[in-house]
Amino acid sequence: MRLLLVEDDRMIGESLVRGLGDDGYHVDWVRDGPAAAAALADPQAAFALVLLDWGLPRQDGLSVLKDLRARHSLVPVLMITARDAVSDRIEGLDAGADDYLVKPFALAELKARIRTLLRRQEARATAEIVHGTLVVDPVRHEVQLRGERVGLTPREFSLLRVLLSRPGVIHSRAQLEQALYGWNEAIESNVIEVIIHTVRRKLGAAIIENVRGVGWRIGQAP
Ligand code: CA
Repeated sequence: MRLLLVEDDRMIGESLVRGLGDDGYHVDWVRDGPAAAAALADPQAAFALVLLDWGLPRQDGLSVLKDLRARHSLVPVLMITARDAVSDRIEGLDAGADDYLVKPFALAELKARIRTLLRRQEARATAEIVHGTLVVDPVRHEVQLRGERVGLTPREFSLLRVLLSRPGVIHSRAQLEQALYGWNEAIESNVIEVIIHTVRRKLGAAIIENVRGVGWRIGQAP
């Protein structure tokens, strides 16, 4: 899953990129308001969620958020801020933030809130994603097929997670590359096919359906 982090504090930014990367998220990090606005306006960049600092150089986070919602974007936004007055929190939530975390915060709490927002976005009531006999646990990063644990690499897990997040929807190669990799990563032309191949080898060929010339979607429930 690809997240956009908007944070001007270098230490916090570096620790979040590392900490969230450990959980298999790909984090694109920008450091000011205009860069955030440009990233969010990029139709190719399919962010699953935005972590948005309030106090930013040149354009503050609240203004970035208002612009985003004015364009009718539904991407979940978690605001991160040092401002903990009740009136600030209300202003952030009223402007379209989905959640609010006051600095300093524990990484574990941020991760839990991210999982909650993603779950809500995907209209799931529980943490586990169940697709027939396939059970994906985004908390533990575990996959079980017919009760047996199957080991997936972080990229394989992300690909499965992206396809399962929108059953029935066909994802093009470009969309999957965007979801799994950041702007600065060099991608080999057949990398998505390679990942799909290994996921199918581990979970059965039918788990991912190829729609010729268009892309891929999650297959019938095993
Ligand atoms: Ca800041």
